[in-house]
Amino acid sequence: MAKAWWRKRLLRIYHPDAREGEFRELNVSGLIADCLAMQAEAVVIRAGGIYALYPSRVPYHEIIPAIGQRDLLGEIVSAAHARSLRVIAEVDFSRAREEVWLTHPEWFQRLASGEVARDGAYYLTCPLGGYQNADFALPVLREISSRYGVDGFLLKTVGFAGYCYCDTCVAAFGGPIPTGPSQGSWEQFLRWRMQAVANQLASYHGTITELNPESIFVAELVGPQDPVRAHKAAQYLPALARSFSHLVITVGDPVSARSSRWWVGLAADLARAVRRKRSPVINIARHDPSFPRASMPPAEFAFYSYQALAHGAGIKATTTGLPSSQSDPRTMPILVEPFRFMREQDEVLEGMMPIYDVGLIWPETAFHRAFCQEATDGLRGECLGLYAALKAKHILVGLLYDEFITAKRLRNFGVIVLPTAVWLSGEAIEALTSYVLEGGRLVLLDSPSASPDPGFLPMPEALAELIGTEVGVEARIAPYMLPTAQLPPGPQIEKRKSRPLPRTLSEIIHYNWTREAAQDGLLGVRLGRGLGPVPLTLPYRRIKEKDGTHVWLRSARLQEAIRPVESNTAEIGEDPLLLVALAGQGLIIYAATGLGRMYLETGYEDYATILEAMISHGSTIKPYLLTDAPSSVEVTMAHWKLGVVVHLVNAAGPVPLDAPAPVGPIELDLAWDGPAVAHLCAPGAAPQVLRCHEEWNRVRITVPRLNAYAQVVVRSG
Ligand SMILES: [Zn+2]
Repeated sequence: MAKAWWRKRLLRIYHPDAREGEFRELNVSGLIADCLAMQAEAVVIRAGGIYALYPSRVPYHEIIPAIGQRDLLGEIVSAAHARSLRVIAEVDFSRAREEVWLTHPEWFQRLASGEVARDGAYYLTCPLGGYQNADFALPVLREISSRYGVDGFLLKTVGFAGYCYCDTCVAAFGGPIPTGPSQGSWEQFLRWRMQAVANQLASYHGTITELNPESIFVAELVGPQDPVRAHKAAQYLPALARSFSHLVITVGDPVSARSSRWWVGLAADLARAVRRKRSPVINIARHDPSFPRASMPPAEFAFYSYQALAHGAGIKATTTGLPSSQSDPRTMPILVEPFRFMREQDEVLEGMMPIYDVGLIWPETAFHRAFCQEATDGLRGECLGLYAALKAKHILVGLLYDEFITAKRLRNFGVIVLPTAVWLSGEAIEALTSYVLEGGRLVLLDSPSASPDPGFLPMPEALAELIGTEVGVEARIAPYMLPTAQLPPGPQIEKRKSRPLPRTLSEIIHYNWTREAAQDGLLGVRLGRGLGPVPLTLPYRRIKEKDGTHVWLRSARLQEAIRPVESNTAEIGEDPLLLVALAGQGLIIYAATGLGRMYLETGYEDYATILEAMISHGSTIKPYLLTDAPSSVEVTMAHWKLGVVVHLVNAAGPVPLDAPAPVGPIELDLAWDGPAVAHLCAPGAAPQVLRCHEEWNRVRITVPRLNAYAQVVVRSG
């Protein structure tokens, strides 16, 4: 069987979210022309659920009153197909009219009080009830698919609207639904409802592909910026990966942009972590929910679009209302640019596979058990901060869910960064231990946010043994951390002055304690060498070193009046904070606290520098990519059919972005074998040939100038 048309593509989906009144006099050919003009390959059309866009035979599936008996869906599908535009039918089974509630109260969600759950005039249906399954939803999906031959479905609202206490749920759970964490069955209940939603969607997927194996099935899932909403709905990405053809994740609203610039990339990477070879789609939320008619600044939308491409994700763009009725004249032109560039770069983007040097463990299981709620707090904040720090240092990072840790998956990465070990399963600990013993490098942080205050949860014994110290549970605080004079062991990356290299622990410490440092003076500062007292804003775990432990950072209390040069020697000497231990063929680099949240909260580069040094320490080979790009430029790298492609996304400017400040020149140093040809491809500009300096197993390329976004496309020469 031929592979489905969408299988390897980064999709370009446009969603004109028409209001009911707009359907009344809808000009079908005008709408299709508008969609084609914006370079979309598929368009989302509201088709059924609360109301139908066609005369339906399914009971309770009434046609939108505004359109009379007109078969609008049929008209749109044939007009679109005549011009090779694909149609994705949007369905919404999350709520129904009062009439349905009155005849089938058993289909609806109940609050703990027994009352029905409502949203304005509508009643909220239960994902397990007959309405969302065999009695209504499945017949509607079959009718639309078989009658109109649509190219796919988009499910509007996924999962629960909070905890449901209806009879169907009670029966399916197999006992009374608990009301809070104090009840013993709570964790089991939370796991059950996530699996229930995944099963329900898998049955939709099965129904749809049974009729049309090439059909897309997607839904707008909640992104990592909003864990509270995802929890309420019981949307759990690792369980949902096989329930859809693509994971479509909603990210990038102007409000969450203030807490992180990485939501889009993070969402795409999380999707890749559960389904490595399938390109996800980013549904860019273009509006502040309070002002749905106002678009975000054009440069901000472009920034998110390009970040999606850089992470191997397609784009879904939405407008509130039809293209012809946009009150902001800038709306449509803004949407066109990324789509047009995607079309031009189709050959490079198709089947593109991200390249990673480092694996960051994403402890989703720990998030649930450590009860972190907000996306920037606690252990979630720690992980978000680590991700941001890795990005700032241009380290090619891929994600690995904690529940998927296996020896095989770990071997995909040269280095593993683990934000906490206290919640890991026995199997995961075993896999990590052998990963290290067989030559892997483990950067282990010990985020205090993973433990209930005020102490730390016990460190798994096998890992404590690798660290080779006495690891207690006592939490301590100190104002600073400071490097020690001791050089940690481990081979160093070969030094060459001509290119930027990540710094190793040894290099930084060595610099701190040499005469060279004193002589360099301001020059050293300008080159970003050395490291001074770093604020320690979180508690750390107290560990007791044994003989031969290589400690790199210690807690320190500095007296304010003393000059830093003197205080270095005078005030070090408290608890070990960061140490390096050789274990088997590998290395474990352990920090007795987290660095991510401190980085997120203070923005001090030092935390990122320490993390980078922990990662590059002990490496005998260079990473796939080295660059001197400023930290405001995101750099990712991927394989494409004929070589590799480096994506450069420029975020230099305010949040939200008004216009990125051009930067450059940027030097890239890539792993590459043989002669190379490189092209600089940027939106709105003709491709430009870049000179390649080939060296043994590497190629160096200089990008003269970067505006909003560019791809450096490298192929064999
Ligand atoms: Zn229910």
